[in-house]
Amino acid sequence: KIALFWFRRDLRLQDNAGLYHALRSGYPVLPFFLFDRHILDPLEDKRDRRLEFIHQVLGELQEELKEKGSTLLVKYGYPEGTWQQLLEDYAIAEVYTNHDYEPYAQERDKKIEALLRERGIAFKTYKDQVIFEKDEILTTQHKPYTVFTPYSRAWKQKAKDPFYVKSYPTEKYFRHFLSATSEPLPTLEALGFEASGEPFPKKVLRREMLEKYHDLRNYPAAPGTSRLSVHLRFGTVSIRELARKGEAHSSTWLNELIWRDFYQQILWNFPHVGEGKAFRPEYDRIRWRNHEEEFQKWCEGRTGFPIVDAGMRQLNATGYMHNRVRMITASFLIKDLLVDWRWGEAYFAAKLLDYDLAANNGGWQWAAGSGTDAAPYFRIFNPTSQAQKFDPQQKYLRDWIPELNSLDYPPPMVDHAQARERCLKAYKAALGKE
Ligand code: FAD
Repeated sequence: KIALFWFRRDLRLQDNAGLYHALRSGYPVLPFFLFDRHILDPLEDKRDRRLEFIHQVLGELQEELKEKGSTLLVKYGYPEGTWQQLLEDYAIAEVYTNHDYEPYAQERDKKIEALLRERGIAFKTYKDQVIFEKDEILTTQHKPYTVFTPYSRAWKQKAKDPFYVKSYPTEKYFRHFLSATSEPLPTLEALGFEASGEPFPKKVLRREMLEKYHDLRNYPAAPGTSRLSVHLRFGTVSIRELARKGEAHSSTWLNELIWRDFYQQILWNFPHVGEGKAFRPEYDRIRWRNHEEEFQKWCEGRTGFPIVDAGMRQLNATGYMHNRVRMITASFLIKDLLVDWRWGEAYFAAKLLDYDLAANNGGWQWAAGSGTDAAPYFRIFNPTSQAQKFDPQQKYLRDWIPELNSLDYPPPMVDHAQARERCLKAYKAALGKE
């Protein structure tokens, strides 16, 4: 009999909670990954770089496992059918995996757990992706926090206990992987996708970056942030290791990791945010303009507001956008163009390499004012002064808009002052404010 370890968004052998428990189960462990057709089928872009990222990482995992005399089992299909087949092919005693908080994943896991239970097989799942999850951090009234600052205070207090940030020493038990000949992975093409061959952000956390983070993080032209988001998204790095480094070298950076936990617990405790609803229901009364052509200009980076256009072009070309610019582009779409934040959320979801439902929804609802910590509705970013403040030398702008100072660059698509008034009117009408 064997134990199966199911990789999902935890694609590493080191410091992996569920894998650690599997390796200590007493059964030989067969690691497994499923290319889930429920997720792959709707992807329209056949050059989706997230698939390319996962595929590349699985290749690396396969090499590591081969060195240890084992293999990674990779399947392509729908979860239920695949699991039925696995149960026929292998004598499975137990299944190990890590928690996944997204609504689709929860539903999928419930079905698989039930399928396994029918055969008397345990489905054991662990916290791995975050430091604190679900209801681990509650207010004194035992309610989830809905405001970040007190949440982060409680988080830091609890994290003083080293238990929560300690690594799981999987390497001590690597000899417990099932002995097996290494099987080739399906190619990306066999899955219906193509590689771009472009490099991905490196998996390194530099001490120098952490030391300068507080001063440089808002300047999109500076290499001032970690660029680890895609690695955090797919679990190629351990959050516990990063939290320890943040604690040691930059409390500002640690705070960003706490935002990540914060939004994960919001999605868990307030599932309506993941179902297309505003965290604050009154914001669903806003009458959006939803002008298709204007939305298209925003998507393509042709608004005539250089910081917005630079950000959208960076996103379209690389799958990444600097955080400050995510805030500015989101604010512009929602407030200057009065386009429903859900349109922008969906566009980012399709394009971001680091796309994460909880963080993306949190970011968009923050910008719309409808979210947890929401900026007050009357605070509207001025894209011109934001650019002057955060890209004073226009380096970021020129990097992404070669035609910036020529006649080819379009004039601003709206008058910001007028758009601001129009937005305030729409928000006030929805919220019943004078
Ligand atoms: P760093 O500044 O080095 O931060 C370290 C890590 O902390 C990040 O990798 C990320 O995992 C986490 N983090 C940082 N800021 C936030 C935040 N505000 N909320 C949650 N986690 C955070 N982040 C995503 O990971 N996925 C998304 O889909 C996403 N969508 C966003 C949409 C909008 C409208 C906004 C305003 C922000 C969004 N963010 C999202 C948050 C943030 O912009 C990115 O995490 C960050 O830019 C990634 O770059 P980095 O790895 O260099 O971050």
